[in-house]
Order: sequence, then C-alpha cells, then structure tokens
Amino acid sequence: MPDLLTDVRYIKGIGEQRARSLNKLNIHTLRDLISYFPRSYDDRRSFRKIGELADGETACVEAMAAGAPTLSRVRKGMELVKVRVVDETGALELTFFNQPYRQNSIRAGETYTFFGKAEGAGRKKFMTNPVVEREGEREVTGRLMPVYPLTAGIGQLTLARAVAQGLAACRDLLPDPLPDEVRRAHHLCHTGYAYDQIHFPASEEELAIARRRLAFEELFLLAIGMKRLRRRRDALSCAPWPDTELADFYEKLPFALTGAQRRSIEEILADFSAGRPMNRLVQGDVGSGKTMVAAAAMVCAARNGKQSALMAPTEILAEQHYRGLSPLLEGLGVPCALLTGGMPAKARRETLARLASGEARAAIGTHALLSEGAAFHSLGLVVTDEQHRFGVAQRSALSAKGEHPHLLVMSATPIPRTLALIIYGDLDVSVIDQLPPGRQKIDTFAVPGSYRQRIYRFLEKEIAAGRQAYIICSMVGEGDAPPDDRKAVTEYAKTLQEQVFPALRVACVHGRMKPREKEAAMSAFAAGEVHILVSTTVVEVGVDVPNATVMVVEDADRFGLSQLHQLRGRVGRGAHKSFCILVSDNRSEEARARLKVMTATGDGFRIAEEDLRLRGPGDFFGQRQHGLPALKTADLSCDAALLKEAQEAAEALLAADPALKDHPLTAQRVEELFAAGGDALN
Ligand code: ADP
Ligand code: MG
Repeated sequence: MPDLLTDVRYIKGIGEQRARSLNKLNIHTLRDLISYFPRSYDDRRSFRKIGELADGETACVEAMAAGAPTLSRVRKGMELVKVRVVDETGALELTFFNQPYRQNSIRAGETYTFFGKAEGAGRKKFMTNPVVEREGEREVTGRLMPVYPLTAGIGQLTLARAVAQGLAACRDLLPDPLPDEVRRAHHLCHTGYAYDQIHFPASEEELAIARRRLAFEELFLLAIGMKRLRRRRDALSCAPWPDTELADFYEKLPFALTGAQRRSIEEILADFSAGRPMNRLVQGDVGSGKTMVAAAAMVCAARNGKQSALMAPTEILAEQHYRGLSPLLEGLGVPCALLTGGMPAKARRETLARLASGEARAAIGTHALLSEGAAFHSLGLVVTDEQHRFGVAQRSALSAKGEHPHLLVMSATPIPRTLALIIYGDLDVSVIDQLPPGRQKIDTFAVPGSYRQRIYRFLEKEIAAGRQAYIICSMVGEGDAPPDDRKAVTEYAKTLQEQVFPALRVACVHGRMKPREKEAAMSAFAAGEVHILVSTTVVEVGVDVPNATVMVVEDADRFGLSQLHQLRGRVGRGAHKSFCILVSDNRSEEARARLKVMTATGDGFRIAEEDLRLRGPGDFFGQRQHGLPALKTADLSCDAALLKEAQEAAEALLAADPALKDHPLTAQRVEELFAAGGDALN
C-alpha cells in the first residue's frame, strides 16, 4: 500500500522515466505529486455544432471523419495531416502540423471530439491542431483541464495523467489533518474530494469548494503552528529587569520623542519587567524614528547588567547606526562596539574580546554578529533592524547566543494586516504611527527619460541651495549584482561628474565595493562633502542623511512599490522640502498604474497593500526569507475572512486540546510543515 511519502516512481502507471521528469519539478513523493496544484484551468466544456461555430470561437465539436486523413510534406521537415470532419450541420477542415501519427489514429467513418479554435465562416471553416479524443471519452475534452506551471521536459497531459494516477493510488487513504469537527463546523469538504477537484474540477462551483477547503487547511495549520510557538515562548521565564528608568536618556536626546515613540518604549519596558522573554515587533513607516526606540531598549539592557546586540542588514547601515548611536550610548555610560564582516582582522579581534569579556555592553553590526567567533558575556537583548532582510532563522541564531534574550524586531516595511498576522503571528506588535514633527510631504513625480536634462538642472538648483541628492541607477542590490551593474553605477557616476556636473562632487556606492571604500563614500556624503550619490539599492534601507532632499530613481518601473517607498524614504528626513523623481520609459498600462500609486500617496501601508495586490505575496516578501511554510492555495490579498475563520478555529482547538493529544494527525502535519524552519522558530 503506498503512503504519502512513497516515491512517485513506485506509483502504478508512472515508472522510472516519468519519475525523472517529475523530479525536475521537485516532485518526489506521492504527496508532492498530488500537491502540485494547477496554475489555472482550460475550459473545454462548451460544445458546438459545426454550423454554430463562430469565427475565432474555441469549443468542442463532435464530428465524424468524412474520409481518410491525408499526409503531405511541405517545405523541409514539415508534415501536414489534413482531414475533413462533418456533423449534421456542416463540415470542418482539420489540419495537424507535425503530427504524422494522426494519419492512422483518425479513421474514416468514426466519430471523435475535437477541441480547438475555429476559424472561417460558412462552408469554409477550419481548425488547426485541435485536441482529439475518441467519442465518449472525456479525459481531455468536454471538461475543465488543469494547466500546471511547467518547465521544459514534461507536458501538461503527461503531468495530468501522473496526477490522476497519484490520486487513484491514495484517494482513499489520504489522512485528513483537519479534525472532523472543524471540517464540519466550517462547512469544508473532505480532503480526498478537495484534491480531486483542485486538479480535475467538475465545475467552477466544485473547484471553489475544493480551494476553500485547501486554503483553510493551510491557514489553519499555520495558525496552529504559530500559536504553539507562541505558547512555548510564553512558558519561558527570565528574571525581570528591575531598572527601567530612562529619564537621563530622554534628556540627552536633541529632540523630544514623539508620542508613538514613547508608547513603543513604554511597551518594551513593560515587557522587560514582565519576567519572560520579550518578542516584539516595532513597525513604523520610514523615518518614523525606530532607531531611538532601539537605543532606549539598549540603554535599559545595560542598566540591568546585560549586553545588547543590534543587527543591521548591510554594512552601511550598521556603520551608520554605530556612528549615530555610540556617542549617545557612551555618553550614558554604555560602551559600544562595531562588528562587521569587512573589518580589519585586528579591530575585529579586539571587538570580539570586548564582547566576550562583557566590557562592551552594546554591539552593533551585521551578520558578522552571527558568526561562530562572536560570543557574548551576557546577551540579554537582540534587536534586528529592517527585519524583512533577515530570515526567522537568523533572528533565532542570534538569540541562541544568550539565554532566552529579549527580542526586538524593527521593520519599516508596512505589512498588510493579513500578512502580518501570518508572518508575525508569534510577536507582539508596537506601531509607530506618527512621524517626527515638521516633516513635509515628499513631492513625487513620474517622468520619462526625456526629462533628464530638466532633472539635472533641478539638482543643480537644490545643491546650490545647500542640499544633496541620490540617484539610484540599478535595481540590483548587494550580493547578487552582476559585474555590469557595478559598471553601470560607476560609469554613470563618471559621466555625471565629467560631463554634467563638473563643478560638483559626485560619488558612487555599490554592493561590490570594498567595505572601507563604501564607508568612505557614505561618510563623505553624510558629511556633506559629496553632493550627488549615485548608487545601487544599497541605500534602500535605513540610510539617514537628513540634508539630502532629492531622490532620483532611474528605470523606476523595475522596482517593487515597497522598495520605491523605501528609496523615497531616504529623503524628507530633515526640515527641508524633498522630492522624489521616478524616471521610466516603460509606457505599459501596468507600469504606469504602479508609478501612479507612488505619486498619489506617501502612506506606506497603502503602498504595501497595492504592492500585495499587484504582485502577490510571494514577491512581496521574498517568501522564502521569512522561513515559514509557503502558501499554495491561500491568497493573502483576498482570503482575509478565511484567515480570520482559520485563526479562530485554531484558537478553539488549542484551547480544548493544547498539546493536540487527541489530534495526532493535525500535530504531525504542523510538525512537518514547520520542520524546515521549525527549530528556527523556537
Ligand atoms: P526609521 O524609522 O526609518 O529607522 P530613523 O530612526 O532613522 O527612522 O529616524 C529618522 C530621522 O528622524 C533621524 O534623523 C532621526 O534622528 C530623526 N528623529 C527620530 N526621532 C525624532 C523625533 N522625535 N523628533 C525629531 N527627529 C527625530
Ligand atoms: Mg531605520
């Protein structure tokens, strides 16, 4: 008897050769096979009499071959089979290209179903390369056919047949991870039926029933998994931090914190004194001042005899945080240390020693903080900045360097509620929904490349007024930049310097530069010595130069909306009026609609919702990065109601059976789903 983990090659009717093709689609087990869902469906249900066929209509026709098919060879290698078929209303000429076997498979006087696109009118109607099926059979005609996402090497029909074989082998023994009572209470169909119908739906209605059930199942299992993690965490305890007085911190700041910043800090301090590890997300739009919230938490850690680590996704950002925070923190008696991958070996060794001895109380750095050599004396707080760049796994790798340290995640990516519930279901959330006072709206324009001279003149004007500008000219970020992208940035910078702005200072940064060069360019820009910074998207997150007022993005249509919003967030950080100019020659409807969202709103949440709607959740977040099981059926942009239902069902089940003792199948499936990133989530 096969089970769901049976290798596909042992499934009756599949065999070695087909199994190899399936493996290329990452289908190895029976479960992989039946869980390989169609991308869409080809509707082959409409039947027409030949006489009714309109020019251009796609339909099935039942008709008899009026004579034997003829084979002819035209040009080199091209074989044509032609046959005339008839019904009581008319005749249809069929042509098959390069399917010589049709000559023998279609017999005069026999009736078949043909599916294809009819052309012509009256007595001259024809169809090219129709699908052919013997009368009465309904495998490939007269129904909704699944259309699978495929790569070369395997055909739709082959896969559909393999899936059908797979379903036949396991339909009756499919375990149902949804408890019966949940299934009934939420009007969901049985699992076997759902799998059958998602592949070979009898009708749209039945497809919808199947989809709803499978989407519910995914969301339900995910919710169970997240809630269990949460419970496991809530069961942990740590000594409460007694000292949460920060009056001197507030006094040292050059500005008064906003109400939203204060509230977030209060929430964090309450967590610190609660006696169990904090898991908190601070979410705030670009420029809302998250860094100061982190700083407050880090000062508090030091006050309580603990070390803290702030991890940033890029060296530029880590260095900027270090430059900005260390004077403040050290002024409050908190020794700081910087740790990045690009540091000279000697400085690195010194930093590592200071972290291990506990002399450094606040570590600021990149992924280097995760490296094996980085050990802490008493790590009590982990802060990750711009979380969407880190996987859940990395978050917890850093946590593992302390004993259940408090965890603070800061994200500027405004995540639509539905997605946040899933991705951050295990975290408490503080929202900074207020910008520091005096910020002005960033005027945003979408213009074609022909405006470039006008843009340059505008830059000159702003720079003459004492301001600075960014020009982003490559969509490729750090790490995966092909060599010519670096070239694009350096050459563009060179051209601008020599031919357009000889009197100004132009510098460039890209991901392939040596850390020290990058640092030099960034700090020259931050110090106002460089007027125009030409860059790849390495400046996308977090970079803070309040004097910069113009952000020009070349080929803006190539960026995601949330990314553009991040880029735009690099300006408008000081008291000066700021501008964002999105340059694009892409005239397509879609590109224009997207850029229009940017010019119409500065609200990061609205932009994120639009981004989700336009691109789907996979792209939105780089699904794999957050380390959660990918969703196959659930569509986060429109299944919000279903998500709520699934969450409530999960809550109810866990309330009744916290350890899932009476629901071993559910427990097992959750374990499996979380297995890949599972430990990481603890
Ligand atoms: P983000 O939330 O994008 O990380 P930052 O923490 O980088 O924002 O803050 C953006 C800018 O606003 C910084 O220059 C910071 O010094 C400044 N800032 C932060 N809080 C305030 C405040 N309450 N009042 C005035 N300026 C502030
Ligand atoms: Mg930031």
